[in-house]
Amino acid sequence: MKYLRMENLDLAGKRVMIREDLNVPVSAGRVTSDARIRAALPTIQMALDKGAAVLLLSHLGRPVEGEPDPQYSLQPVAGRLSELLGRPVRLQADWLGGVEVKPGEVVLCENVRFNKGEKKNDEALARRMAVLCDVFVMDAFGTAHRAQASTEGIVRQAPVACAGPLLSRELDALRKALHDPARPLVAIVGGSKVSTKLTVLETLLDKVDQLIVGGGIANTFIAASGHDVGKSLYEPDLLHEAQRLIQRAHAAGGSIPIPRDVVVAKSFSADAEPLVRNVDQVRPDEMILDIGPLTAIEYSEIIAGAGTIIWNGPVGVFEFPNFAAGTRAMAEAIERSSAYSLAGGGDTLAAIDQFGVTDAISYISTGGGAFLEFVEGKTLPAVAALEAVAR
Ligand code: ADP
Ligand code: MG
Repeated sequence: MKYLRMENLDLAGKRVMIREDLNVPVSAGRVTSDARIRAALPTIQMALDKGAAVLLLSHLGRPVEGEPDPQYSLQPVAGRLSELLGRPVRLQADWLGGVEVKPGEVVLCENVRFNKGEKKNDEALARRMAVLCDVFVMDAFGTAHRAQASTEGIVRQAPVACAGPLLSRELDALRKALHDPARPLVAIVGGSKVSTKLTVLETLLDKVDQLIVGGGIANTFIAASGHDVGKSLYEPDLLHEAQRLIQRAHAAGGSIPIPRDVVVAKSFSADAEPLVRNVDQVRPDEMILDIGPLTAIEYSEIIAGAGTIIWNGPVGVFEFPNFAAGTRAMAEAIERSSAYSLAGGGDTLAAIDQFGVTDAISYISTGGGAFLEFVEGKTLPAVAALEAVAR
């Protein structure tokens, strides 16, 4: 994997267009979480320090293309970015015709999704963007799995295209964990559905020394092992797939352990009474909402012995305190471990935040969909384009 890196390029006096993911939540004209803006700051500052004239691109929300809608304007982002950078950031509404920008200045181009052809990766649109810059920097990992005009098309049209430090750091971390891991490599895959993570499970099974499943995914594996899961969330259509994965693990001399005990309740609610049961004792009117305490200890021991840990998906309904213990135990086991740890997924990140272990995770991936696709072994189109033009 070879592409140009922004760190290594001379940007003095150049027009540098940087694609970031500044798709932040906005309420009443104010940014309510600026994490993504802060993540992009070092890249923008580095370009300025190198003497560039900076043009920024991002999408925000899902507007109808070709219909600029004030609700999806990047104006609040320009305001917050300006505060964080300590210098003016001009928002330019109409920018495809040309942008005035001098070295040391930052111009934020209005929502790329206001342009017709963005999502379809229209070549003419990509070319109109590309002519505005001397160097294009792709820095938005969260959108790298989508081939769109401002993420992939433009890379192939720009005079020079490179990866920004945020993107390359993310790719380096993922590669380290997946392609060159310190062993044993342990993956924890939880969350609600096998169907959304079947390819992830399949790919990881080939790579890891131990796969651990939790959450609704474990329920399907429990059912596939012949136990009654009552009213639990599980996917009857995928029992066969789960059995196939279990057999594949066995054939390779390993296993996908199913939880030996579980926490059940009679309803899916925060105040439902939690009961611990052996996995073969779940009653027809009960649902499994967490792994049990013995399983949590068993899994924690596996995590303690790991050289590398990949975590995607909570192992229980961690949003309800009564059913959060299993996910908390996983988070704390990772916190105690000195292994290289990588976590990704929207709800996984929420859990990590809730249990206060953010600082203990070696790398937290910023892109939900892009993270899963990378783990699945798919090529991210924007990254493939960066590699293609670097040859
Ligand atoms: P991520 O966003 O980290 O990839 P998912 O979206 O796949 O994770 O799944 C997260 C959701 O799975 C959480 O909202 C959690 O409550 C739910 N979940 C976990 N375990 C169970 C379970 N046993 N039954 C029902 N839902 C569960
Ligand atoms: Mg999710």
